[in-house]
Amino acid sequence: MKNEYSRKGIAAAATLKKVMADHFYELDEAARTGFPKIAWCTSVGPAELLRGMGFLVYYPENHGAMLGATRMATELIPYANAIGYSPEICSYLTSDIGSYLRKKTPLTKAYRIESVPRPDVLVFNTNQCRDVQDWFAWYSREFKVPLIGIHTHRGIGDIWDYQIKDIAQQIEGLVPKLEEVSGKELDMDRLKEAVEYSRRTSELWRDCLESASAIPSPWTFFDAVIHMGPAVVARGTRQGVEYYELLLAELRERVANNVAAVEGERHRLYWEGMPVWGKLRALSEQLSSLRTCVVASTYCSSWIFEQLDPDDPFESMALAYTELFIVRDEPYKERYIESCQQLFKFDGIIFHDARTCPNNTNSRYGMPERLRQGSGIASLVIDGDLNDLRCYSEEQTKTQIEAFIEQLEGS
Ligand code: SF4
Repeated sequence: MKNEYSRKGIAAAATLKKVMADHFYELDEAARTGFPKIAWCTSVGPAELLRGMGFLVYYPENHGAMLGATRMATELIPYANAIGYSPEICSYLTSDIGSYLRKKTPLTKAYRIESVPRPDVLVFNTNQCRDVQDWFAWYSREFKVPLIGIHTHRGIGDIWDYQIKDIAQQIEGLVPKLEEVSGKELDMDRLKEAVEYSRRTSELWRDCLESASAIPSPWTFFDAVIHMGPAVVARGTRQGVEYYELLLAELRERVANNVAAVEGERHRLYWEGMPVWGKLRALSEQLSSLRTCVVASTYCSSWIFEQLDPDDPFESMALAYTELFIVRDEPYKERYIESCQQLFKFDGIIFHDARTCPNNTNSRYGMPERLRQGSGIASLVIDGDLNDLRCYSEEQTKTQIEAFIEQLEGS
């Protein structure tokens, strides 16, 4: 039900719905007919290569986010726990495997699709975490299909040439198995085209995110996490590019007309960490009632791959997938957040300590305190989880946020 603190509707949302629906219908049809072949890919896996080789690409993490947003996750996680997957590991993994075991998916209500599409091959990149490999390994055993992947260097500051060459070789090394599964040879022109679409999608997505540097901001993090769907699932396609051209035009118009996502915007925040998928609306409305707009986040910016270069697809993919925030060391991450502060002019950070995702949690090794000392950025750490709402206390978080905003008022 709408109230005065509900988010303002974005007209492009109708097109967004269609892009997402088409993505799932296309996959469902391919799963039923056996053509084109389907590759499952981690969210920052080599999607351009898969597109370039003619695969349709399905992203289990996107399904995980749907399980979280629809709050089906909390009920499904115990089924994965029962077969030995700990409640302490990624709740995308546990809710997704639980969903498969229970034969329950949010795709049914949203699109009348009975189940996730059966894969022909599973392709991971450990740049984000090890959980994705274990997650895909389970499905590889279940479906008896090949599991291949890239092992990325992690916790790195400066990026060295040998690291990029290694990753580029690993990506290229996937080609023979993918050719065997698809029955087709790699078509370099098609690969370059996918890389170019992905690069352009990234540029447009970055421009959309940066429109929030306007004061007042035309949209919030809670809008962006919904509108980033095509940046994940339509990467490497023309539809991705077209969608963000449309969205960007609307956001620019809002900026030109001084339209505020949060009426009477008084405070601007940065969200560090995973969204709490099942509580997006409650958090958005509480912050809006406090005249506070979340203008930027690490999470949404993680799908910007501007390094992609169609003239050098393998090395540029290696660079794009290694320069990511999640792959880097603490000093790099701190400098990055400080540079975001310069651009977005936020007055505080909410760090989400997500119980089951240490990889996207950056409050555990002193970063909030170092940012406070170094740049005077105030912060609040909230406990929660991306999908497992048993780890989240709504009342406690509400009180913490109120107190944090009071603290900002006083400073
Ligand atoms: S980065 Fe976190 S949320 Fe994403 S797959 Fe890995 S553990 Fe799960």
